[in-house]
Amino acid sequence: MNAGEKTAIAEFLNLAAGYVKDGYKREIENYSFNDDPQEPEQTSLPLAYITEESEEDETGEDSLNTIAADISACAACGLSATRTFVVPGEGAERPLVMVIGEGPGAEEDKTGRPFVGKAGQLLDKMLASIGLSRDENCFIANMVKCRPPGNRDPAYEEITACGQFLKRQISLLRPRFILCAGRVAAQSLLKTGTGINALRGDFLELRLGETAIPVLCTYHPSAILRNESLKRPAWEDLKLLKSRVEERD
Ligand code: URA
Repeated sequence: MNAGEKTAIAEFLNLAAGYVKDGYKREIENYSFNDDPQEPEQTSLPLAYITEESEEDETGEDSLNTIAADISACAACGLSATRTFVVPGEGAERPLVMVIGEGPGAEEDKTGRPFVGKAGQLLDKMLASIGLSRDENCFIANMVKCRPPGNRDPAYEEITACGQFLKRQISLLRPRFILCAGRVAAQSLLKTGTGINALRGDFLELRLGETAIPVLCTYHPSAILRNESLKRPAWEDLKLLKSRVEERD
């Protein structure tokens, strides 16, 4: 092999290594969630809504920081033994929409932040397509706050052990709407065995004490990345969410 061939092979290997490292980021950057030429992306929705402080807020009985501290101290199930960081959730304190996924993956476990990997980047695009964002009007959380090893589905006992934290978050945040990402989150939140194809497409309801919160289930962004044909129905779900939010405001 001559010097020129060696250089060409080295350059190719470098390029390939770069793709393996950053390729998915580029793939997601160029990935368009809304392929419909008739419908512009980036329509706007109101910022997080303002309410009177509740008595509980005033007495400081519960707060996102307290919940996060309790999650960090939790060892109620086996996931605590294998986690790097807990992933309590993040976003607006009075969210229009609370997004609930199933559980942290590898990137989330490393950073302590929800939905920051490949699926998370698509989720951000999906939200942006109807004017939502974790910085302004959404709170993003998961059914379980620690990573299930190997990204397996969280087990029933793990979801049950973690349920108190999600319940406290929902009670504190009082989101106007919940967007459930994927089968596992939808089935465990709504306590049903019905499949995601039947659960999505229309609003359901989560009852929490006196309150009923409208819940819309849709496909998990990881499922959309695996199966392009889910993109269109997921977009229909998001348009439905947007129109319902606009009706209420
Ligand atoms: N998938 C989820 O369900 N949640 C995350 O936080 C990341 C990936």
